[in-house]
Amino acid sequence: MSLPKTADIVIIGGGVMGASVAYHLAARGQKNVLLLEKDAFFGQGATGRCAGGVRYQFSTEVNVRLSLASLPMLEQFEAEIGQAIDFRRCGYLIFLTTPQDVAIFKHTLAMQNKLGVKTEWLSGEEVRRRLPLMRLEDVLAATYNPGDGLVDPHGVVMGYIHAASRLGALALNNVEVTGLHLTGGYVTAVETNAGTVTTPRVVNAAGPWAGLIGRMAGVNIPITPVRRQMLTTTPLPEISPDFPFVIDFAQSLYFHREGEGLLTGMSNPGQAPGFDQDIDTHWELVHLEAASARLPLLEKAGLVSHWAGLYEVTPDAHPIFGVTPVEGLYVCAGFSGHGFMHGPVTGKLMSEIILDGKAQIVDVTALDLARFSEGRLIQEYNVV
Ligand SMILES: Cc1cc2nc3c(=O)[nH]c(=O)nc-3n(C[C@H](O)[C@H](O)[C@H](O)COP(=O)(O)OP(=O)(O)OC[C@H]3O[C@@H](n4cnc5c(N)ncnc54)[C@H](O)[C@@H]3O)c2cc1C
Repeated sequence: MSLPKTADIVIIGGGVMGASVAYHLAARGQKNVLLLEKDAFFGQGATGRCAGGVRYQFSTEVNVRLSLASLPMLEQFEAEIGQAIDFRRCGYLIFLTTPQDVAIFKHTLAMQNKLGVKTEWLSGEEVRRRLPLMRLEDVLAATYNPGDGLVDPHGVVMGYIHAASRLGALALNNVEVTGLHLTGGYVTAVETNAGTVTTPRVVNAAGPWAGLIGRMAGVNIPITPVRRQMLTTTPLPEISPDFPFVIDFAQSLYFHREGEGLLTGMSNPGQAPGFDQDIDTHWELVHLEAASARLPLLEKAGLVSHWAGLYEVTPDAHPIFGVTPVEGLYVCAGFSGHGFMHGPVTGKLMSEIILDGKAQIVDVTALDLARFSEGRLIQEYNVV
């Protein structure tokens, strides 16, 4: 398929955000929607490298509200979009080892419960009872939500892209946006390696690369790419099928069942920002040592696969939704390592912002780009 000369709306980035925006715009009747992805396949950026976790457990109301809107969309995904996404409600169990985290999580659990999220408080004893294979002597408490779980990211991306295409949108691979044309403060065209497309509206859904797209229009979008990595193991029959998504919060260390084995990852707090997606073999050893200390069973597991991807980190660990100082240029990016689960609601929100001038389904006015220059940051604590 060749690049059209014009489009009503161009979306940059074929990850979960771009795919969801394309579908939701097409579902609202927008016919001339063009999605451009630089890679040979859709969803190979942060989305295709993520852990697939979906959760209600956040520390700010707006993130909980995004989950309250987005997770039911994932539950309805197959019925609405016609694509299976393997939603496994294994629950997230986040365990705490410091008095400070216990105090903070008690507070945020009350907020979640007030919003109707049924997160539960577990004592250290209860955590040790539920996870007999793990070494958890130092665990003080945990939060657990049985409605949290895992979803297949590729199914979500391709489901949205196919559904958008059926509704008339055009999604192209191997098209890299290399520049934006502006006239008098308005966006007028997108320049690519395959030619120029004139358009009055552009959505920057370039994930970890969104700051680079902003720069093409002279707009500062404070998103820092930060490498994160994980690995999967050979089968471990001892791990029960109902093993939850377990997070050792203080160490940013996590485990969940993946096929017959486990997936585990640990965030490196000293990771320098950058676009490098090679495996850091030194950090992998640090990670494996910490993981085996928690779950000694791992010592007898083999490595099946490992990979690195990029978190798209904003200064307050919240995403950026909506308009920019350039008329016609919108942004939805910066989900700071927990955006896959908010992909569905983001597409709907962006369709509302673009077509109605205002988000309806969740109030995201506090998550505008202007908050950074106006000092209105709201910090998310539950970042893994
Ligand atoms: C290791 C890891 C684990 C994670 N675990 C989870 C998790 O368990 N749960 C969760 O909810 N989130 C998780 N995340 C975060 C989640 O992956 C992201 O928040 C989300 O996928 C961001 O989606 P996106 O569409 O904004 O970005 P991406 O998926 O990166 O999509 C952006 C796309 O834009 C394309 N692009 C960039 N520049 C251009 C250009 N110039 N022209 C054309 N195309 C361009 C890229 O190639 C890319 O495909 C994790 C992330 C990582 C890295």
